[in-house]
Amino acid sequence: MPSFLEVQGLTKHFSVRSGAGLFSPRIPLKAVDDVSFSLKKGETLGVVGESGCGKSTTGRLVLGMMAPTHGSILLDGTAVHTRHDAVWRAQRQRMQMVYQDPVSFLDRRLPVGRQVMEPLTVHSIGSSVAERREKAEALFSVVGLRPDQFASYPHELSGGQRQRVILARALVLDPELLVCDEPVSALDVSVGAQVVNLLKDVQLSRGLTYLFISHDLKIVRQVADRVIVMYLGRIVEEAATQELFQQPVHPYTRALMSAVPSLKPHPQRRLSIQGSPPNPMQVPNGCVFHPRCPRASKLCQTERPELRNIAANRSVACHHPEDTTVSSPRKLETI
Ligand code: SF4
Ligand code: MG
Repeated sequence: MPSFLEVQGLTKHFSVRSGAGLFSPRIPLKAVDDVSFSLKKGETLGVVGESGCGKSTTGRLVLGMMAPTHGSILLDGTAVHTRHDAVWRAQRQRMQMVYQDPVSFLDRRLPVGRQVMEPLTVHSIGSSVAERREKAEALFSVVGLRPDQFASYPHELSGGQRQRVILARALVLDPELLVCDEPVSALDVSVGAQVVNLLKDVQLSRGLTYLFISHDLKIVRQVADRVIVMYLGRIVEEAATQELFQQPVHPYTRALMSAVPSLKPHPQRRLSIQGSPPNPMQVPNGCVFHPRCPRASKLCQTERPELRNIAANRSVACHHPEDTTVSSPRKLETI
């Protein structure tokens, strides 16, 4: 099956001042650095990593909300970033964002139903207000809201209900791809689980494709078909979800999983990550993970590992990845 979304060499540099002074020179901060992936129709690709690793910037670039420094994004074979306004609008209509924080996204002065209708007005869809209202109202039942809540204001709804409003608003244009950026991180666990189930139901019934960004590995394991792991703007590992969780091969992925007790792939091998991610303005030479890595060698300090295939549909950027062919892996040193 051909790719529905094709991302090639995606790179985003922000220009930031190197010091606190007004006249300190500007340097590029590589928020996203040479990221490539593809998504088939109906598939869910999870994107994981610590905060600041470039997950959200990748999502915003995919949606055309900002222009990349380099690279290309094709949706169904047509470029997302184009100077041709009509093409951009048409492409944008096919992709929507499910935001993390409904409180700051929703306008507290407007009834939520009006806010769900708004994208239809912006895209001039529907011949009358009544028609737009009908379409928006129909979505209220799809996302599990009551019809009378159409006239509610955001503060009259619970956190879970507000997140359902966000989803209804994202669905109102009948998109094909949703970028879900930490869609349940503002919710408590049980409400978050309900919203995750709703996202899965809606995906099935509408044949949606998801780019699912989250720092929560347990949720990603539940929803994603494949996962990419990002560190400092780059992909360090990509695999099918089951393979990744059963046998992570990049030391960073393994450490991330070790931090979640119920996910530890091999309980005898405890790993934790030393320190915090380096300052993105002072990225280490060689493998950017080497100052925190228990497997780092001299080579790792000087040569950056490229993302390479190690099996069908499985890639890693590491000079010394865990050997996937060893059935009883040796004990790694605890760090
Ligand atoms: Fe660790 Fe070296 Fe692999 Fe980087 S390349 S993750 S430092 S073993
Ligand atoms: Mg983010």
